[in-house]
Amino acid sequence: MDKKAMYKLSYGLFILTSAIEGKDNGCIINTASQVTSEPNRISIAVNKSNFTQWLIEKSGKFNISVLSEAASFDTFCHFGFQSGRDMDKFAGYSDCKRSINGLYYITAGTNAYISAKVEQAIDLGSHTLFIAAVDNMDVLSSVPSATYAYYQSEIKPKSTPSSVAGKTVWRCSVCGYVYEGEELPADFVCPLCKHPASDFEKTTI
Ligand code: FE
Repeated sequence: MDKKAMYKLSYGLFILTSAIEGKDNGCIINTASQVTSEPNRISIAVNKSNFTQWLIEKSGKFNISVLSEAASFDTFCHFGFQSGRDMDKFAGYSDCKRSINGLYYITAGTNAYISAKVEQAIDLGSHTLFIAAVDNMDVLSSVPSATYAYYQSEIKPKSTPSSVAGKTVWRCSVCGYVYEGEELPADFVCPLCKHPASDFEKTTI
């Protein structure tokens, strides 16, 4: 059995947003799919550790903003590398609008949004699979959708400089940024994803 077969599955990338009682949040997922067309339904699988998963469970609704090839790495850092439990991702964030269901969708680096209402929530252990009826949507741009492979090759910064080959470095476990040096300063903050020194691992490239 070659487990790399799983790598052959292709994924899109999406910002998943939801809200309850005026508390908005969003996170990045790669698991949105249309599952039926009549009626129009989509499914998403969301890790239970994501604050957005909890918001969807409580509110029964969510938006998917489809990330395009114009998405910046900053957008991935903003929605993907920090938790809405610790901060308000929409405080001072202007690249968003509210759709008819009252939830935010993202207007920068996206090419469409889809609003949906949860019909079923299936407990998968680490994740919840939500099956939801589409109740609104719009196209925002003609830029092609970003695949996970496109993100890896074109959007994510090249974080391993060739000069460090064979050396001991510290790698950010969140975004892959590489710090060159034997010792990492205790107060170091990742310049890409803003995570602290405790999220770095010492490794040899
Ligand atoms: Fe990082």
